[in-house]
Amino acid sequence: MSLLELSDVNGFYGNSHVLFDLNIDIEHNEVVTLLGRNGAGKTTTLRTITGTIPRREGGITFDGDDISEESVDQISNRGIKLVPEARRIFPTLTVHENMQVARDMSKGREPRPVEEMYEVFPILDELRENRGRNLSGGEQQMLSVARALIQSPDLLLLDEPTEGLAPVIVDDLYDVLSEVVEQDVTVLITEQNVDFALDLAERAYIIDKGANAWEGTVDELEQRQDLLDEYLSVG
Ligand code: ATP
Repeated sequence: MSLLELSDVNGFYGNSHVLFDLNIDIEHNEVVTLLGRNGAGKTTTLRTITGTIPRREGGITFDGDDISEESVDQISNRGIKLVPEARRIFPTLTVHENMQVARDMSKGREPRPVEEMYEVFPILDELRENRGRNLSGGEQQMLSVARALIQSPDLLLLDEPTEGLAPVIVDDLYDVLSEVVEQDVTVLITEQNVDFALDLAERAYIIDKGANAWEGTVDELEQRQDLLDEYLSVG
């Protein structure tokens, strides 16, 4: 049975119809990337999964249960955690306090020890007492991922994690995420940085104008320069 299944999902902002009969299927422990141009509907797709989109229609199941009518909290309590594009950390709290708050908010799920997170993210260990607002963009992104992971998600949704990061920080983030995906977690990652996504993921979906355009393995996609040009080139 799939961990997450979207069948003919439609998404709306008010009267604006932005997702069209979208189908996505993710197995337990898979790392899948959702690719597409700016405005293709990647963030909106993640929002249909977390329940934060104003209106969604269609089938959404998680571990076999229908979650299409569930609230944001119910979905979060099932262990679906989103690391949003705009990194959400508490600027006035220290790194350690940010971790503790995330752990304390882990309703209905056994959180992971903060110390375990410092092993995965040694850079955060060094910055324990620094306030969120004093961290660089890359450090904030690491903290944002750590805050989601501490809640022991079954499904981790990462929305364009490399956006706005310097290349050297992207390399650090890659190292950390490669370790994360080795753990017992299923990951759906959206990216415009195609190389980054293809290095991490096993399978890919391309969406265009809110609809499925292609799906297959990363190995197949790497041989398809035509698809990369058609759907993923910037512009
Ligand atoms: P990006 O890389 O820019 O984040 P994306 O692939 O994630 O792109 P979405 O942000 O999901 O794309 O946007 C899909 C479509 O929905 C776009 O046409 C966008 O203008 C529209 N849209 C996004 N958010 C809203 C909103 N809050 N209200 C109305 N329309 C929106």
